[in-house]
Amino acid sequence: MTFPTTGTPGTTAPSRDARAATFAAAVAAQGSDASVHTAGSPTYDGARLPWNVAVDQRPAVVVEPRTADDVAVAVRAARASGLRVAAQGTGHNAGPLAVQDLSDVVLVRTGALDDVTIDAAARVARVGAGAVWESVIEAASRYGLTALHGSSPDVGVVGYTLGGGTFVYSRALGLACNSLVAAELVLADGSAVRASADENPELFWALRGGGGSFGVVTALELELFELPTVQAGMLLWDGSRADDVLHAWAAWATTAPDEITTSLRLLNLPPLPDLPPFLRGRKVVAVDGAVLDSDERAAELLAPLRALEPELDTFGRVPASAVVRLHMDPEGPTPSVSDSVLVDELPDDAIDAILEAAGPESGTSLLAAEVRQLGGAVGRPAPDGGALTHLDGDFLVFGVAVAPTPEVAARGREDAARLVDAVRPWSRGRTYLSFSEVTTASTSAYDDATLTRLRDVRDAVDPERRIVANHPVGERRAA
Ligand SMILES: Cc1cc2nc3c(=O)[nH]c(=O)nc-3n(C[C@H](O)[C@H](O)[C@H](O)COP(=O)(O)OP(=O)(O)OC[C@H]3O[C@@H](n4cnc5c(N)ncnc54)[C@H](O)[C@@H]3O)c2cc1C
Repeated sequence: MTFPTTGTPGTTAPSRDARAATFAAAVAAQGSDASVHTAGSPTYDGARLPWNVAVDQRPAVVVEPRTADDVAVAVRAARASGLRVAAQGTGHNAGPLAVQDLSDVVLVRTGALDDVTIDAAARVARVGAGAVWESVIEAASRYGLTALHGSSPDVGVVGYTLGGGTFVYSRALGLACNSLVAAELVLADGSAVRASADENPELFWALRGGGGSFGVVTALELELFELPTVQAGMLLWDGSRADDVLHAWAAWATTAPDEITTSLRLLNLPPLPDLPPFLRGRKVVAVDGAVLDSDERAAELLAPLRALEPELDTFGRVPASAVVRLHMDPEGPTPSVSDSVLVDELPDDAIDAILEAAGPESGTSLLAAEVRQLGGAVGRPAPDGGALTHLDGDFLVFGVAVAPTPEVAARGREDAARLVDAVRPWSRGRTYLSFSEVTTASTSAYDDATLTRLRDVRDAVDPERRIVANHPVGERRAA
């Protein structure tokens, strides 16, 4: 497949619109069915809208491939048109992409590549680049299997997995990225490759937690786990109990065994009609999670939390497919802003700082101030793991606000930063990039050796820096 190239040495570089037009023509000339939306076309604004609708991303052109071949055509056409390429599944983490210069970028939105097939005997799911967790979990559950999904049914499997992936199975089973069996992707030169332990092993290493800097993934193969049912649920207290529940939970969390993973949220619920009447407009404390063990063991592990007399206790044995909605994350397009950091410990002073910054009396605008319990298998380097073997902190602190207007977004950003700043004394400034919806240095997420290795892989597969990621691995410092 060949493409005409734009630009001749010594002549003025073509404008963004000219390059976008060349790109559209090149895609059409290859007989590709991909939809192309150039800036200014009537369909452009709809096509560029990410899941996080508070984010205004303005690429030169948006392309919606229908097949892996369409992706290869789009990448080659971008190259021939002098454009760079950014892949996006849903746009849950569009924030740090949109603040980059996208005026010469083709945004490849993969939503239509949403095939999911389950090989029950091999316990492997083959997942197209546009698939969201709900469809994978639903398909796997027909065989009594599940995957290491996140807290939201409509987060994209690919972005989640490339970034790490942690939720209620993590302390028992580790990060989702290390359950990756193989990936199919289109590299910056337009070639299609497969990466696994046996094929392109360095690339396979980088894809497991190194993010989206290495090409456009067209499909992933993920390990599935035999888990037809799970002990999972939520404990809920009135906001007035925030102080004693948070102190007690944090102390309990550091000694809990690996088979239980929970998170605690201080929730500031709006008076929305979709909420059950007893929750509308209330401040509450919620602890949710799962136990990968027997009902008896779950009861034993939950006893110290139940002793705090929650007003609601939904823990019980549920189909594993229900766990994807356990956290009640917002589904569909949502405007939000957030901030997060990994912390090493949460002694009493740290809990007091969280309460002062985001507790019920703080006046915060945050919808949720969340503390995720890490440690266990998610805190230990995974044997034979990829670039992200574990998360380097015992807790992840995260603040999120709904942001329907720029003014509300600014206030939410301030309040999320206030929460994160409050726990900085107990943090080494390490971050988990998938939970970072703002520009964040890659040095805060990987150690030096890992970052050097990630950059080496990127240099090998993308010497021209054609691929644009939300969280790029960055450039080596000049010697
Ligand atoms: C409501 C909500 C709940 C969440 N829950 C969890 C959770 O429980 N646990 C957790 O670990 N994280 C969670 N996250 C974070 C989530 O994992 C990241 O936002 C992740 O990047 C989302 O992936 P996506 O594909 O949906 O997003 P996108 O914004 O579409 O993609 C993010 C990035 O991934 C890369 N990427 C996506 N698709 C491709 C592709 N085909 N090829 C190459 N690169 C690609 C790109 O660099 C892209 O910029 C949550 C986020 C939100 C907003």
